[in-house]
Amino acid sequence: MELNKLLKQDKHSSKELAYLLSLQGEDKTKLFEKAAEIKSKGIGDVVYFRGLVEFSNICAKNCFYCGIRKDNENFQRYNLSDESIVEAAEFAHKNKFASIVLQSGELYSQKFTDRVSNLLEKIHQKTNGDLRVTLSCGEQSAETYQRWYNAGAHRYLLRVESSNSELYKKIHPDNDLHRFENRLESLNLLKQTGYQVGTGVMIGLPFQTLDDLAADILFMRDFGIDMVGMGPYIEHSDTPLYKHREGLWDIEERFQVALKMIAVLRLTMPKINIAAATALQAIDKLGREKAVKAGANVIMPNITPGQHRDDYLLYQNKPCTDDSAEDCKNCLEVRVALTSNTIGYGQWGDSAHFQQRIEEGNK
Ligand code: SAH
Ligand code: SF4
Repeated sequence: MELNKLLKQDKHSSKELAYLLSLQGEDKTKLFEKAAEIKSKGIGDVVYFRGLVEFSNICAKNCFYCGIRKDNENFQRYNLSDESIVEAAEFAHKNKFASIVLQSGELYSQKFTDRVSNLLEKIHQKTNGDLRVTLSCGEQSAETYQRWYNAGAHRYLLRVESSNSELYKKIHPDNDLHRFENRLESLNLLKQTGYQVGTGVMIGLPFQTLDDLAADILFMRDFGIDMVGMGPYIEHSDTPLYKHREGLWDIEERFQVALKMIAVLRLTMPKINIAAATALQAIDKLGREKAVKAGANVIMPNITPGQHRDDYLLYQNKPCTDDSAEDCKNCLEVRVALTSNTIGYGQWGDSAHFQQRIEEGNK
């Protein structure tokens, strides 16, 4: 295949995508440079900050890969108070992050729905409606998604984890709480409700191939996703998937393929927002900067009040669990400057893809 030609295209077959994901050495560098150029021309040399608040690690689900799954009893469950969540939002507001993400385990109850609605209202009240709020609280009913939207959440992150239904089945229990079809249904509901919809996949899962990842790119394109957060799978010793660790790509390989996924997605979808996942930094100290140089335009500084950061271990060796939100901001400022990008302080940084979608009639 001719690389120079492929780098000029924005539509690729699954074979071509898998080829791009396999690039090494100078060819790989060319791919990253092209993705950075497309980002620069299409949406500018700006990186947006989203303050991430991991407000509770209590979860009703049992995903085989996740350290905070329901059946793991080897750590402390927590649920931040409304006051400390609102304080974290005020920190983001004061520091001109313009946007926050509220993430938690997945719960379904009237109490949880009410709580998140009230929280959204309180946050908007305290920050004069200046913050864009993203939710990442899993699969919910159409009514719940609508309620949260009405209470002021306008973006939602729900990773499809893998668009290959067979692989999805292998990494989740076989019961009604964990159906691939429900995942897709939720993504559709979010779109219909009017959210800017974000999804993503884990990279380097047991049983996963480059063809699967190529199919993930096509899934995101065909769904018309607005935002993506994807990163390497990192094994956790207290999870069922840990028994498959021998067959995994080594961690550096997972990291490199994750960067290539970002770059190839940028070629395919020039206008979407792509986050440099924190899991990248768990592997390489410069992980997030490298992601920005491969086409990412969003970084999510962790602003979860410090005392519980150690308990939100979706994967092990999570970086920066000892830092304060202030440390995190200062460190990231230096890091972004190294990529020749500026930080979009005070700007919402809505997905340009979403804006285009709405202008064209919400397709
Ligand atoms: N409960 C919500 C949000 C929190 S989990 C949900 O599941 O949507 C957020 C993301 O963490 C998941 O979508 C998954 O992709 C990622 N994750 C979980 N375990 C992981 C692991 N071991 N390695 C890398 N990412 C992981
Ligand atoms: Fe719960 Fe999300 Fe972890 Fe699954 S990935 S166990 S839903 S927190």
